[in-house]
Amino acid sequence: MYYLLSIIIAALLTACAAQPHALYQYSSLNALMEGVYDGQLTIGELKRHGDTGLGTFNALDGEMIIINGSAYQIKGDGTVTAAGDNIETPFADVVFFKSAKSFTVEREISCDELQKMILQSAPSSNIFYAVKIEGTFRHVRARAVRAQHKPYPRLIDAAKDQGVFDFNNVRGTASGFYFPDTFGGLSVGGFHIHFISDDRKSGGHLMSCEVTHATVDIDYLTDFLMELPKSGGIYGKTIGTAQQREVDLIEKGR
Ligand SMILES: [Zn+2]
Repeated sequence: MYYLLSIIIAALLTACAAQPHALYQYSSLNALMEGVYDGQLTIGELKRHGDTGLGTFNALDGEMIIINGSAYQIKGDGTVTAAGDNIETPFADVVFFKSAKSFTVEREISCDELQKMILQSAPSSNIFYAVKIEGTFRHVRARAVRAQHKPYPRLIDAAKDQGVFDFNNVRGTASGFYFPDTFGGLSVGGFHIHFISDDRKSGGHLMSCEVTHATVDIDYLTDFLMELPKSGGIYGKTIGTAQQREVDLIEKGR
């Protein structure tokens, strides 16, 4: 009897230790659009919800990418540093990435075309995906927002002065999420992807790219866990629904 109980307890402990598989988001894009650039979630806390993801840092101090459990900060001047666990974020999406589908690309293809391929290969455009594109890129154009000072401007104004970088023949990883359009405003509807080079010296929010060779991994996600800040700028501010036109201009550059 005692032996049986031990087995049950061991099985329960194993189940509790299993990693969650929900797309976790801290705060909302709408809040970021309205200039809520300070959150209370640390990178260390964020990494409890996922090993792969993206976002930004407090004061809008650059782009975040998390790859294999390591977080990086790409600042507006293009410098890339490892992001310590104590740094805070006002907005991020993460997941414990599990590849559900994988394919390789052996010809030159733009990231727009690649995104269409990913959507066509997916079971539906109405669920979430996490994607990882690892390989050689003939060209990457990425951007990074610059740290802002209080009183914070709205994102549409902060985004007017950002660093834009071009990288040629670079090995790296483009990684991010697809949200169904119905979630636009809560997050970025469609694809939202950040890039980092293998040498961890360049990266940013992906604006466009051409892939030469790459492995594409897709994680299909049906669970979405969203956490709003427990205090701070989101309280007492009028946060409406972001205008899609503004989101397209900021996130997709068009
Ligand atoms: Zn981004």
